[in-house]
Amino acid sequence: MSTEPVRGLSGQSGAFVGRQPAGCNMYLETVSQEKNPKEVWQEHLKGVYESAKMMSNNALGRQRTPDRALKLMAKLHAITETNIGIVSARLQALPQAQREMMTPQCSAGCDYCCVQLVRVTACEVLAVYAFVKANFSEEAQEDLLKRLVETKEYTLSKPATTSFRHQCPMLVDHKCSVYFSRPFICRGINSASVAACKAGYAADSTGPAAIPIVDSMRDVAVSVRWGLKESMVEQGLEGPDLYLHLAMLTLMQDASAVDKFFVGEPVFQSAVIPANE
Ligand code: SF4
Repeated sequence: MSTEPVRGLSGQSGAFVGRQPAGCNMYLETVSQEKNPKEVWQEHLKGVYESAKMMSNNALGRQRTPDRALKLMAKLHAITETNIGIVSARLQALPQAQREMMTPQCSAGCDYCCVQLVRVTACEVLAVYAFVKANFSEEAQEDLLKRLVETKEYTLSKPATTSFRHQCPMLVDHKCSVYFSRPFICRGINSASVAACKAGYAADSTGPAAIPIVDSMRDVAVSVRWGLKESMVEQGLEGPDLYLHLAMLTLMQDASAVDKFFVGEPVFQSAVIPANE
């Protein structure tokens, strides 16, 4: 996987709102020399989930602070990247034909999938927000605020029955401007075919594009995210899935929302994704 800002990821079922990608590449099923590789992988994912939840409970319990939460997010991001790296290494051991079919083709500047409404938890938004405050100039923050408002207005202008295709407000010059703090969904979606992403993008005027996701990488990100999300709910924090752009807008317009969130106030209600989406 590229370590540079990558143009995106998209399409995971339940990842970006309104996308139902094709999915493919259950590479573990093809590793025939291992005994029950699918079960081994499921056990591994369970361990990833449990680790994420335990770490989240430790950081988000009664002694929680914004700083502890940000350190937690850095650790969870690292766990995600490490385990995606494990998948990547396993892919390299496959026969060439399978490897070529399943290896991610994502690279910096390729952003066909960054045209979705991204689904996040509140802690993920806080990590993105902290990254913006620490790394963006005043001008860049103002530009981001404009893109967030513009995205909100765009979504409000679209009938609910039409598909969504609009550049993510975090995308700048075809690269993710918050790459190092990007949401789990964005980390987990890796495409095995740029051609398929391109075709899906071109055809998405009426419906979702089909992106051949590397399932095992997606499963890693989902497992970490699920551990975090369950912990947030158990610790009395706002737990519903949020639209990234609306939650970011909340924070950019009211910095006090960060502290309110950590004392359990529901500050992201305007960003909550309806249960049927
Ligand atoms: S947050 Fe970054 S990686 Fe995710 S959709 Fe937006 S631009 Fe793409």
